[in-house]
This record gives sequence, C-alpha cells and structure tokens, in this order.
Amino acid sequence: MAELNTSPVSDHLGSRLVIGLFGGTFDPVHNAHLRMALELKQRLQLDEMRLLPCHQPPHRDQPQRSSDDRAAMVRLAVEHCDQLSVDERELQRDKPSYTVDTLLELRQQLGDGVSLCWCVGMDSLVNLSSWHRWRELLDVGHLVVTARPGWQLPVDGEVADWLNEHRADAAQLKKTACGSVVVCEMSQLAISATEIRDTIAKGDSAQYLMPEAVWRYIKGNDLYN
Ligand code: ATP
Repeated sequence: MAELNTSPVSDHLGSRLVIGLFGGTFDPVHNAHLRMALELKQRLQLDEMRLLPCHQPPHRDQPQRSSDDRAAMVRLAVEHCDQLSVDERELQRDKPSYTVDTLLELRQQLGDGVSLCWCVGMDSLVNLSSWHRWRELLDVGHLVVTARPGWQLPVDGEVADWLNEHRADAAQLKKTACGSVVVCEMSQLAISATEIRDTIAKGDSAQYLMPEAVWRYIKGNDLYN
C-alpha cells in the first residue's frame, strides 16, 4: 500500500482520473471511517481513495494522540485493503492542516486534469463557513458531502446559498476537475472516535469498532487510557 503517491497522474484512456480524499483527525481511525471511504469509492467509481490524517486540525480541539500515532493507526487500518491508501502530506506541514492548502498542493502535484474530491460528513459541512478560505475550495476541487445520521443539509445562511449554487450530481465529478458539491446519502455506522476514547478511558473494551491491527496498536501502546 503506497503511503504517499508522488508520481504524476495523467488521464487514462481519455477519461478523467477521479481521486477521493477523506480527511480526518482519525483519533483513532475506526470502521465507520473505513466503510464510508470504501463505499464512497465504489459508489462514485473513484479511481483512488486516500485517507489524509490531519496534523493540526484547525476546527476542533487538538487530538489526544500524536500525529505519528494517528498516522500509524491509519496505515495499519488500510494495510490489507487495495482500495484505500494513506496520504500523509498534512503531517509534513508544521502548521494548521487547512484543506484548501492540501488541495492546492495536490492540484500542483497532479495537474489540472485530475478531479479532486474532498469528502466530508454532514457535520463538517455545517461548519464550513469557518474553514480557512472556504469559498476557494471549489476553485481547486469538488466537495462530496455524506449524510450522517441526525444531520440535515443547512437550509439557510451563506453555506446553504453556496450549496444551492454549486450542487450537482455525481456524474459531474468525472466531467470536471473541480467546482461542484455532491451530496451522497449513505447508511453510516454509528461509531465515533469520541465514543471509542471514552470507552477506553472508562476501562471498557473498544475491540471490533476498528480493525484488529488498530486495536492491537492501541492496547500495545496504552493509548487513550
Ligand atoms: P471525533 O469523535 O473525535 O470527532 P470522528 O469519529 O467524528 O471523531 P473524525 O476523524 O473527526 O472522526 O472524522 C473524519 C471524517 O469522518 C469526517 O468527515 C466525519 O464526518 C467522518 N465520520 C466520522 N464518523 C463517521 C461515521 N460514523 N460515519 C461516517 N462518517 C463519519
């Protein structure tokens, strides 16, 4: 499993390459992240799906575990899955992990032809207007929003207006390299990293909420106690 694909990518067979990017704190990575990433890849017929652990999340409390631990767990989580890979570029920037910077870096590296699809849960969309240079995101990539239980699309405000202006169907991801918001309604597993951290802190087991190798890493390194 390639950790960081630095090779230039070009359109293959005349059709646009479509790359999914699933960013997260992954503190720790769990099965809901992995199922969501895999199902998105399949549903949207993405050529690649990369998980990007963030270094310093700008929009939430700092993670409990170090970037190294969180990235190690993501690597373990996907080591036997040929459909998912890890892209560690945000860990190499010693500053807040702004999505727009990550997309710009990928665009520069992969070229103008590639479709870049930044995937987020509906909970992240609600806070979109607090993201650094959020209106510029669509100049560089697409935004794919997944519906999460209990969350609804914003109905008023600047994000709602922006959403109405840019919303498109999934076919657009292949047609253009950037510029659209695609909403994907998907069944989601009710697992959260917060619940996993709380469970372990209480002294209970979080086994089976994540791949066994991740659980072993947590136990072996005495994380979240
Ligand atoms: P925390 O509980 O610490 O906030 P989390 O479980 O929500 O963590 P993050 O790393 O913050 O995980 O989320 C990364 C991405 O995964 C976000 O886009 C988030 O919306 C999405 N995500 C998180 N949990 C789920 C879930 N159960 N199903 C689908 N997507 C999820």
